[in-house]
Amino acid sequence: MGGLMQGKRGLIMGVANDKSLAWGISRACADQGAELAFSYQGEALAKRVRPLAESVGSDMVLPCDVTDPASIDATFAEIEAKWGKLDFLVHAIGFSDKSELRGRYVDTSPENFKLTMDVSVYSFTAVAQRAEKLMTDGGSMLTLTYYGAERVMPHYNVMGVAKAALEASVRYMAMDLGPRNIRVNAISAGPIKTLAASGIGDFRYILKWNELNSPLRRNVTIDDVGKSGLYLLSDLGSGVTGETHHVDAGYHVVGMKAEDAPDI
Ligand code: NAD
Repeated sequence: MGGLMQGKRGLIMGVANDKSLAWGISRACADQGAELAFSYQGEALAKRVRPLAESVGSDMVLPCDVTDPASIDATFAEIEAKWGKLDFLVHAIGFSDKSELRGRYVDTSPENFKLTMDVSVYSFTAVAQRAEKLMTDGGSMLTLTYYGAERVMPHYNVMGVAKAALEASVRYMAMDLGPRNIRVNAISAGPIKTLAASGIGDFRYILKWNELNSPLRRNVTIDDVGKSGLYLLSDLGSGVTGETHHVDAGYHVVGMKAEDAPDI
């Protein structure tokens, strides 16, 4: 298998460092010949993203804060000026005040509820609006979600509510953009130690729990996420849209593990 992404150009939003899920997807796409542009939030991250971009042959590294519509416009204007069109988009962006990623969901403040929804949900719609205009030959858009959207997970709180809305927006946008042959999907990744994940209370315990209880008896890596991302972004996924695809070592199918039963 080689060159699956030859001739395709994609914007990757959300690489913070070499642990980022978006970086796993970037590597998998670049290995198959994709040409990539990267957006980053804030100058502190630019230092980390630039060398990563260079390592996959990219010199398009653009600032973009998704809370600022003018910043999103500037990023897509740059893509249009340099490339004229876009084939794929990866949205790997989420944020919530970490003081509310512990304790009870019911205590979420209105300010953090709105901020979390804006950065973690609406931003995908906002970038999809701009990307649609550049996907003149069809395209593929991908976002990242988590099982906390479907079931209650400890400490995930408002982020779980936001991910549920994000998954719903994937389905609505799949319907809206399907007639233009633009596919919209999500990967629901198992827990992986990243900068964003470090804000979640007891994250090490969640990692251990998934490792012990998932069918594959391990945690997933950014390479696992990258390979499934490649499938959804390339023509291998040509008949797939509106989907939330679990890349979680099978954790989401488990009700209870037999060998855990105590003597009763
Ligand atoms: P990460 O910290 O590497 O990436 C999060 C990114 O969001 C960063 O690059 C950050 O700069 C960006 N971001 C936050 N606010 C932004 C803003 N206002 N404008 C632009 N960018 C902004 O962590 P990650 O775990 O790779 O997260 C990527 C996505 O994957 C997130 O949506 C996260 O919820 C999701 N996810 C993560 C896990 C996990 O266990 N790590 C599991 C499932 C889903």
